Amino acid sequence: MDARTLPPQLPQWLLPWYEQNKRDLPWRQDREPYHIWVSEIMLQQTRVEAVKGYYTRFLAALPDIPALAACGDDALHKLWEGLGYYSRVRNLKKAAQQIVSAYGGVFPRDYGSVRGLPGIGPYTAGAICSIAFDLPTPAVDGNVLRVVARLWDDGTPIDTPEMKQAVTQALEAVYPAQAGLFTQALMELGATVCGPNRAPDCPRCPCAAHCLGYAHGTAAALPAKLPKREKRQEEKTVFILQCDGCFALRRRPPKGLLAGLWEFPNVPGTLTPEAAIGLLGDWNLRPSELEKSITRKHIFTHIVWEMRGIYAQVREKTPEFTWMTPGEIDTQAALPTAFRLFWEETEHV
Ligand code: SF4
Repeated sequence: MDARTLPPQLPQWLLPWYEQNKRDLPWRQDREPYHIWVSEIMLQQTRVEAVKGYYTRFLAALPDIPALAACGDDALHKLWEGLGYYSRVRNLKKAAQQIVSAYGGVFPRDYGSVRGLPGIGPYTAGAICSIAFDLPTPAVDGNVLRVVARLWDDGTPIDTPEMKQAVTQALEAVYPAQAGLFTQALMELGATVCGPNRAPDCPRCPCAAHCLGYAHGTAAALPAKLPKREKRQEEKTVFILQCDGCFALRRRPPKGLLAGLWEFPNVPGTLTPEAAIGLLGDWNLRPSELEKSITRKHIFTHIVWEMRGIYAQVREKTPEFTWMTPGEIDTQAALPTAFRLFWEETEHV
């Protein structure tokens, strides 16, 4: 294989292998662009197994683009609760509204229009256009970059624009008429046989005879990546306050991390029990008792929250907070995972 080109036979090797080995996944039942779009957005940063249930529930509630465009924010966040990266679902709705207003509710069929929708980058546009419409548009994500870096035995960090461009161009040159199957075959190889965080299973790979990483014994050490940025640590004290069977919640600000979602009241820093009681007094909450305190950690892309959760019974439902029953919290309020970690430890049932 020449440096940074791919053999034109790559589709011939991959397509029969894919037909025989593909996993049965809910979003592989049809080629409806709305379905592929929703699945691709959910699969960003989230494992396949975790996405399956969300995908089925989401489409049962919002079966088409006009339904998504018209969905209220709270109901939408509830459907996404626990998946994280909530800007993804807000962009889904914005894009659905744009499809309704600009394209009469019909998903556009050309790459430029798809790429112009909110929340759709080159990867997602490439995936939708190839899988739904058989356009020769590569979908180059971490899985595909890893496979090609290994095929080439190329130590260039895969998270550089240079490598992404080289892989995209090399793939464009070999795309077959069955573009959708080829995209999915590459994704499948990168998710299974040539998977992340472990040595690849080269003897089972349809490209083994042509892979330089396998031939040179370097595949397991590839791909190279740029050094990771350190995550910022933030401490928080989170209050899980209960009064007459209801819990105190408030909405997060409309911009920034977890924008517009619900949260338990919280303050920066780790408070001692004495300081926590003092603060609850300042909030006119007059705690009758502090029940327990637990620590939890939640990791975002660039930030780590180190949290102390303080559980308390209070005597009054003050108007600064929204007081919800457990049923309301479970069915209506989208509570991000960082706070759900504490909700799961409440004894309200
Ligand atoms: Fe990946 Fe091994 Fe296949 Fe090369 S031969 S593409 S390293 S699984």
